[in-house]
Amino acid sequence: MADKNIENEIKKRRTFAIISHPDAGKTTLTEKFLLFGGAINTAGSVKGKANSKYAVSDWMDIEKERGISVTSSVLQFNYEGYCINILDTPGHQDFSEDTYRTLMAADSAVMVIDASKGVEAQTIKLFKVCVMRHIPIFTFINKMDRDARDTFELLDEIENVLGIRTCPMNWPIGSGKEFKGVYDRETKMVDTFEAISTGGAKKAAETQYHIEDQELKDLIGPYLYDQFKEEIELVDGATDEVDLEKVQKGELSPVFFGSALNTFGIDMFLNYFLKMTTPPLGRMSDQGVIDPVTEPFSAFVFKIQANMNKAHRDRIAFMRICSGKFEAGMEVYHAASKRKLKLSQPQQLMAQDRKIVEEAYAGDVIGVFDPGLFSIGDTLTFPGKKYQYEGIPTFAPEHFCRVVQMNTMKRKQFVQGVTQIAQEGAIQIFQEFTAGLSEIIVGVVGVLQFDVLKYRLENEYGCEIRLEPIPYNYIRWVKDPSTDLTKLKRVSDVKKVKDMKGNPLLLFANEWVINQVLEHNEGLELLEFRKN
Ligand code: GDP
Repeated sequence: MADKNIENEIKKRRTFAIISHPDAGKTTLTEKFLLFGGAINTAGSVKGKANSKYAVSDWMDIEKERGISVTSSVLQFNYEGYCINILDTPGHQDFSEDTYRTLMAADSAVMVIDASKGVEAQTIKLFKVCVMRHIPIFTFINKMDRDARDTFELLDEIENVLGIRTCPMNWPIGSGKEFKGVYDRETKMVDTFEAISTGGAKKAAETQYHIEDQELKDLIGPYLYDQFKEEIELVDGATDEVDLEKVQKGELSPVFFGSALNTFGIDMFLNYFLKMTTPPLGRMSDQGVIDPVTEPFSAFVFKIQANMNKAHRDRIAFMRICSGKFEAGMEVYHAASKRKLKLSQPQQLMAQDRKIVEEAYAGDVIGVFDPGLFSIGDTLTFPGKKYQYEGIPTFAPEHFCRVVQMNTMKRKQFVQGVTQIAQEGAIQIFQEFTAGLSEIIVGVVGVLQFDVLKYRLENEYGCEIRLEPIPYNYIRWVKDPSTDLTKLKRVSDVKKVKDMKGNPLLLFANEWVINQVLEHNEGLELLEFRKN
């Protein structure tokens, strides 16, 4: 029997990530969510590009120099009886493997789309990871206060490009200067929009009217009103019903319209989102599904962050709690090392602050000091329980460099450094298929990781390196590792490599070459993610 208190705590948790292409408004939306939760008083404090508040923490110099964060954190706040965890997915230049991995720790995703741009490249990549996990995906179409693309066209694009059915929960009336508000299809009420000029106000001035209310008709004018009514008739006839089961399996995306900057449409979004998403659900392990409520503490490591404090060579392992309750000082079992250990200095990273946590529950994320014991994907359980969660896949890097070591005398440090940094998951290392360790190729998801690698090898391991870019952007695992790579046809433009476990991979310059190789080699299967 689960403790009632633990059950209540877990039931109120909602843990999600926000995915988007840079500049679609993820940061602004996150800030507005936090405003609703009362977690911050003024907008603008989640991420300032060179925000002085960030300087309080001992980020690596590289982070300070560029005013970005190499790693991500979690934001927790309470709203209407829910305890919400927003997992921060790094974007912009700091887009990296961590962005993907964070999605492995989320129970659902909010996809932010710029109404004037539609579906963009980075959204597609992140979306694919959500689909792989079958988690619910909610869409927020942002910037309706700017000239937007046609609403039907936007929905079509989501359906066609991303391959997910959509179901508009609300509908915009006009856009840009003509943006009059959004219509809630369930309540038949319209929230009208008036842009505000002050940034920090709690929400845009808005009034609610019934769709048939004369005042509404007067307010938006006959032309826009008729157009809006026509659209609503079309939508009611043409779009999918809200099927909660499909939403929860990630097959149907509820769509909302609004403007994060103007805090418009945020409460409507949050209220539906919280009702339509679930608390943490059971997670698959090698011994079947682990129930979050009835099972005692368990967690898995999804991110390892090195060198937060330069005085020590510490790493912090971030883990997502999957079941039960965590209490500071409790003993846990670490399956990979077959050891019982106490998690030291558990902490939560909240916006700019870190705080020591005394307790946390399924759905939450904690960071613990890692003496070099943990790897990405490791499971921690209550002592006596010996199951392991499914591993975290390895995601395809997109940038590749040959690593040239400047001082060959330091071979040992070099190999140790590269291997350790790869173990933390910031980079992936590959070798020429035929050569030994004499040539190392490094692959990264985000180019910033090259700088991090160079910086860390120099500062932590005393090894100077030169990175020579190689002209490949796509990597694919060969599904059947026994495939004879020498027999492949049409591979003159393809580089054959292997990972540290000896698995064969192919590097390509572009997708066209991938298709050529697939076409000319019957039976060859290539994978974009690799399950560990
Ligand atoms: P991110 O890169 O996805 O985190 O995007 P940001 O939240 O940093 O937003 C990018 C830019 O778009 C910023 O200048 C925001 O002020 C602006 N922005 C965000 N939401 C809106 C919106 O609803 N309307 C308008 N006009 N601008 C917005």
